[in-house]
Amino acid sequence: MIETHCSLKSFNSFAIEAQAEQLFHLTSRSQFPALITHIKQAKQQNMPILILGGGSNVLFCEDFAGLIIKVELLGVDITETAHDFHLCVGAGENWHQLVSDCIDKGMDGLENLALIPGVVGAAPVQNIGAYGSEFKDFCQSVEYIDLASGEVQTLNREQCLFGYRDSIFKTTAFKNALITQVQLTLSKQWQPQSRYGALNDLDKTQPVTAKQIYQSVCEIRSTKLPDPALLGNAGSFFKNPVVKKELADALLSAHSTMPHYPQPNGDVKLAAGWLIDQANLKGHQIGGAAVHQQQALVLVNRGEAIAADIIQLAAFVRDTVKQKFDVELAHEVRFIGAQGETNLAEVLANV
Ligand SMILES: Cc1cc2nc3c(=O)[nH]c(=O)nc-3n(C[C@H](O)[C@H](O)[C@H](O)COP(=O)(O)OP(=O)(O)OC[C@H]3O[C@@H](n4cnc5c(N)ncnc54)[C@H](O)[C@@H]3O)c2cc1C
Repeated sequence: MIETHCSLKSFNSFAIEAQAEQLFHLTSRSQFPALITHIKQAKQQNMPILILGGGSNVLFCEDFAGLIIKVELLGVDITETAHDFHLCVGAGENWHQLVSDCIDKGMDGLENLALIPGVVGAAPVQNIGAYGSEFKDFCQSVEYIDLASGEVQTLNREQCLFGYRDSIFKTTAFKNALITQVQLTLSKQWQPQSRYGALNDLDKTQPVTAKQIYQSVCEIRSTKLPDPALLGNAGSFFKNPVVKKELADALLSAHSTMPHYPQPNGDVKLAAGWLIDQANLKGHQIGGAAVHQQQALVLVNRGEAIAADIIQLAAFVRDTVKQKFDVELAHEVRFIGAQGETNLAEVLANV
């Protein structure tokens, strides 16, 4: 149940070598009391605690000096009413497998979110999204165990405070919340979401099916994004920045083709990948890390990268984009230091 001095290389999609002092595989709800006891012991020894899913959105900046809980809770329960399917899914279920199984069973809705790596329990944390859909569109509630008290609690969708790559689970008040299962609702009155990006190219003269969207999303993603099994990466490294309209207008007057998405509050969202590409950073390499040749938003481990290579490259990309466009890029990938979550600025300040 507990491993010590455990290599994390196969538990992070960047394939960065790092060690965890302790690793607890949470495979069953019957382990909750034992888990809480381990947490108390770890806290008495001042050890940090980290919750880990599939490791596809983390960068281990150094060895982790504490207890990692790897969430492997399985199970999918399906019920239905006249209007909806209701799914109760264990946090350790593979997200893409869930999407794929739903499509096979004729339960449509999740198709735009196909091929997003990771497990179900991590999906609410950053409200995963792609091709015009987000996790929140299907979320009914999220169950978690409070690792401080051992109590199991449930938040409904509104209480989760979902935003762009954001939720209540990213706040410090919820750092002890280990998501155990999620409840999803898939409407039987399915409506396609096919007006986004490359999905626009689907033949609209025929009624489009969820299976077609699913297949298109899988095809597009497989050609566009590097497979972490072949080339270590954590998907989009930076978030798309949201800037003031004045800055967006100034940039547009110099770069008329710049992708830009006006927001309801008047701000404008820009495409981080476009900015990095325009700064001529595709292929830029530091040590074993590089900006992906085809997809500028993705930083990759060319095979021999250490964490410091990725960190230096991330800083270089951030600084170059700031110099060229006066736009601040924030990283989407969660930085994990020896004592828990950290960030690029903190890591650089400590070298
Ligand atoms: C090739 C590639 C493509 C990607 N494409 C997209 C995309 O299109 N859209 C998108 O939104 N993301 C994308 N991602 C990012 C990633 O897939 C998502 O963030 C995913 O939800 C991470 O899941 P995980 O299980 O790997 O989480 P991890 O990386 O293990 O964890 C991520 C964060 O969630 C926390 N966490 C994990 N499980 C739990 C839990 N049970 N309870 C509480 N906290 C938890 C962790 O502490 C950590 O802070 C991509 C990544 C890759 C490698």
